Amino acid sequence: MKKFEDTYRHKGLRKKLVDALRTKGITDERALEAINNIPRHFFLDSAFDEIAYEDRAFPISEGQTISQPYTVAYQTQLLQVKPFDKILEIGTGSIYQSSVLAEMGATVYTIERQKKLFDQSKNFIFKARYPSIKFFFGDGFEGLPTFAPFDKVIITAAAPLIPPKLVEQLKTGGAMVIPVDEGEHQRMLRLTKNADGSCSEEAFENFSFVPMLSGKNG
Ligand code: SAH
Repeated sequence: MKKFEDTYRHKGLRKKLVDALRTKGITDERALEAINNIPRHFFLDSAFDEIAYEDRAFPISEGQTISQPYTVAYQTQLLQVKPFDKILEIGTGSIYQSSVLAEMGATVYTIERQKKLFDQSKNFIFKARYPSIKFFFGDGFEGLPTFAPFDKVIITAAAPLIPPKLVEQLKTGGAMVIPVDEGEHQRMLRLTKNADGSCSEEAFENFSFVPMLSGKNG
């Protein structure tokens, strides 16, 4: 049974991680504060307890990963999260990215295609702390038409293309942060939706994500 303890040691390591993210160029203080407030080791197997605050990705179940803190901070910063933003996230995974967004005051609609990972959300340790995270089992390529439109969309898996249905579900003036497949790596893009339905595109750094796959599993 995993013990959920957030010790002074964990807090100290977390502070160092936040300083390292700042050194690497993250300037969104609200994102850094959220990362500082959330015990990332709670989202990992206890075997990773000591190294949870290294700036790297770790395996969760079903061959998936919890994104590297730098990646989480980077995508969050590009999203320009405001309190009460309604955000659609594709790829719930460990629920860490969702928690960062919820900690910043957003309402998060998050979709996961792996049934086993989705089921883990039922026992999510921070259910009471983040009632603003809504969990869905489904295929992220479809989005959530019933709950659209969204202020922001964040994709946390390598997208082979920009999913047209997700663009449709974005508000005018809204933004989508999406790592798009370019072979081995993905280029981080930010799309801003124009009044005529088209998108303006900005390109940022390259990252490496697990693939965004079609259909549900399980
Ligand atoms: N945001 C997560 C990152 C998890 S890795 C975190 O903070 O931990 C990416 C996740 O995207 C995996 O769990 C994978 O199963 C999921 N995924 C991949 N393709 C998907 C799709 N089409 N719809 C929903 N989830 C998808």
